[in-house]
Amino acid sequence: MPGICLQCGMSFSGHTRHCPKCDNALDQQHDGSTITVDIAHDGERVRDALRKMQSEIDLARKGVAMNIRLVVGSGLIRDEVQLALLDLQFRGNIKDFDLDPANAGAVLVKLK
Ligand SMILES: [Zn+2]
Repeated sequence: MPGICLQCGMSFSGHTRHCPKCDNALDQQHDGSTITVDIAHDGERVRDALRKMQSEIDLARKGVAMNIRLVVGSGLIRDEVQLALLDLQFRGNIKDFDLDPANAGAVLVKLK
């Protein structure tokens, strides 16, 4: 996947973990932005919501956003999502997560 190093502006093609010019770790670069994804308001079951969460996180980790905000509602999905995120954090796939202080029906996940 082609990209641009946010550190030095070098563009590159193909998948590479480090910038060919400045050697910055590309998978740790972010632009400070937050992506918001609703995974719980389309009649999803818990299993569907968790699958959607996983694919959205996988996708977001390949991009340059710093955070992803998962809109989870207030029910069972929120509880299950937090358990799944705990596992992702343990495995090092995400940095951190917490309930969004501005919205109890959303979880803010720090990707980078
Ligand atoms: Zn660079």
